[in-house]
Amino acid sequence: MPNFICTACGTQYAKSPQPPAECKICEEERQYVPPHGQTWTTLEVLRQDHINAWREYEPGITGVGSQPTFAIGQRALLLRMPRGNVLWDCISLLDAATVSAIKALGGLKAIAISHPHFYTTMVEWAHAFDCPVHLNAADKDWIMRPDPAIGLWQGDTLKLWDGVTLIRCGGHFEGGTVLHWAGGAGGRGVVCAGDILAVATDRKWLTFMRSYPNFIPLSARTVAAIGRAMAPFAFETLYGHYFDRVIAKDAKSVLEKSVTRYIAAVNGTRDYDRR
Ligand SMILES: [Zn+2]
Ligand SMILES: [Zn+2]
Repeated sequence: MPNFICTACGTQYAKSPQPPAECKICEEERQYVPPHGQTWTTLEVLRQDHINAWREYEPGITGVGSQPTFAIGQRALLLRMPRGNVLWDCISLLDAATVSAIKALGGLKAIAISHPHFYTTMVEWAHAFDCPVHLNAADKDWIMRPDPAIGLWQGDTLKLWDGVTLIRCGGHFEGGTVLHWAGGAGGRGVVCAGDILAVATDRKWLTFMRSYPNFIPLSARTVAAIGRAMAPFAFETLYGHYFDRVIAKDAKSVLEKSVTRYIAAVNGTRDYDRR
């Protein structure tokens, strides 16, 4: 029996003789079913017409994403550290070339994922690299292929190793998580943000939404809480969830001014339409 994959969000489901009747992730208000309706694929089919592309951003941080883009189109990040590598976020396509390349770079000690839209084929990756997947427990109802490799963490932070900390920000999802690596950016610190702190198209600002495709904003209170969760952490560079969504410099102050701008906009204390 295959593990079917939703072509709209990339989520892989538990084994079933027929494709699931619907994708729970796409039926929910934060995602969408495409105009042509719900369709399904498998990893075997995906491997026939997609490959993974790589971009090294800085020593120890490499992006990996599928070409042509598939489903939501995010790229994952491979973080290489002395005491073990971490895959941040996940993509649906795992093929032999990707397994060989990552094993040659030391394999994976863990996978950590920001939120359910990027759970994709996490269980395939965990099995290929014999490593655990760290997910925030608040989002456990969105796991569509349960597996013993999945570990749920609770609380506000989870320390891994070599200066890596998972930070629960909430917002987009209740368990919405970002990764902070103190050793990134030459020791000035990096944040891998998924779309929990979403890099705007201009790459000068961040925004924070319950749904990006359906334009559902978050409350001022929720975004203020994101700002408080990030306050203890220093960072220079912030990696968003697409290859080109990177804030290279001064990302901490970009986050602070973006939280302020967002709260002013939704509170009506900055009137964009005043003449
Ligand atoms: Zn879906
Ligand atoms: Zn998302």
